[in-house]
Amino acid sequence: MATTSHASIKSRDGVSTLVDRWPLLGQRRPLVIYLCAIVALDLVAIMVFASATEFRWRDVGTFAALMACGAVCIEATRRLGMPAGVSRDLLSAWWLPVALLLPPVYALFAPIVLQVLLQVRVRATVLHRRVFSSAAIGLAGCAASMLFHWFVQDPLLLSRGSGLAIIYAVAAALLFSLLNIALIAIAAHMANPDITWREVLWDRESVLLDIVELCLGVTVSIACGLNLALLLFALPPVVLLQRSLLHAQLQAAARTDAKTGLLNAAAWQREADTEIVRARRTGDALALLIIDIDHFKRVNDAHGHLVGDQVLAGVAATLRSQLRDYDVVGRFGGEEFVVLLPGADVHEARQVAERLRTRIGHMAIPADDALVKVTISAGVALMSVHGDELIDLLAAADLALYRAKELGRDRVCIPAVQPQPRALPEDTAS
Ligand code: GH3
Ligand code: MG
Ligand code: MG
Repeated sequence: MATTSHASIKSRDGVSTLVDRWPLLGQRRPLVIYLCAIVALDLVAIMVFASATEFRWRDVGTFAALMACGAVCIEATRRLGMPAGVSRDLLSAWWLPVALLLPPVYALFAPIVLQVLLQVRVRATVLHRRVFSSAAIGLAGCAASMLFHWFVQDPLLLSRGSGLAIIYAVAAALLFSLLNIALIAIAAHMANPDITWREVLWDRESVLLDIVELCLGVTVSIACGLNLALLLFALPPVVLLQRSLLHAQLQAAARTDAKTGLLNAAAWQREADTEIVRARRTGDALALLIIDIDHFKRVNDAHGHLVGDQVLAGVAATLRSQLRDYDVVGRFGGEEFVVLLPGADVHEARQVAERLRTRIGHMAIPADDALVKVTISAGVALMSVHGDELIDLLAAADLALYRAKELGRDRVCIPAVQPQPRALPEDTAS
């Protein structure tokens, strides 16, 4: 019977309807197992801690007040929307005090309340992401709470200025951040193994945010312990910070292609224009590549669009990992990518394009029981050889790409230009 249900899930039509209804089924199997394991662990923790906790009205009141602050924060920023994918907020300003001041079971409940509110009021995202986020935050909060209560018998010592209690509060907040980052990073890496661990774990902006969250969480905990009414003073600055954080993230999201994380066509064009103006002024070399995945339609036809999307994300990750920080890489549309290489002459441009072709050719994306492999074709254009304007360079690179396809795909082409045959190579195929 297991084989039958497995087969029915894998049948072409079955996949589209089942996956449409349950997007979790479209994820890689190790990721599905990991997500389910974390959620199961969270449920077990809720049951164990709930049965061992004596619920007191005072604790319930503090919990309700902190959740109300979280709800106000969410409502106050609701109109701004929320960027897709992994995004950051400052809601730990509210669940960190829950973890520090109340028994651990409340830390497990807090993210459920706020994630439900986010799902209903801000953005209805894929359900398994919300459930996983609440489980990950809940488990991290529960661990932080256990650590703090292990060393500090009376959490109100925090508000009496006990140095030791403050040190343990900071340690618990650090544990909360680290665990939460680790749980999310493992999921992100399983979803796309081509991303390096450094990319999922380390980002200067995120570290700064973690520090802000830690400071806010500890400060709000102290204020809350002094007098619950002080939460009214903490609320406006947190709302303001939350608004400016969301604003910055939405601005970044508007520049980004959601499927690949690369610049979208409009943002790439703006950045490319700036680089071209700079290269014209300084006289530096500059090269432009247009890259197109070969026979991509066949990948979709054979394995479905979800696998096609994973291939796109894999190609994008390889492009990013193989290029320098100041190269400008974007998704131009469909299965086409554009790369601007400031400072690159013909030799360097060819070298880079060949390296990208080889690396992408070695990539293997798991799908069903097989590994999907793709090749790319690339057209190259050079500044002042094929034109001085972005439009001319794009046209030249597109022509070269067309030629690469004509010559049999899986190759790099640079268009020959008259009347400087020595400086320019003939159409080349590799
Ligand atoms: P060629 O080697 O000539 O480039 O062949 P090709 O099949 O790659 O090119 P074609 O233009 O015939 O097909 C491109 C395919 O890319 C068709 C379209 O369904 C698919 N595609 C475009 N955007 C996306 C996307 O975001 N996700 C997925 N999965 N497929 C996409
Ligand atoms: Mg193609
Ligand atoms: Mg194409």
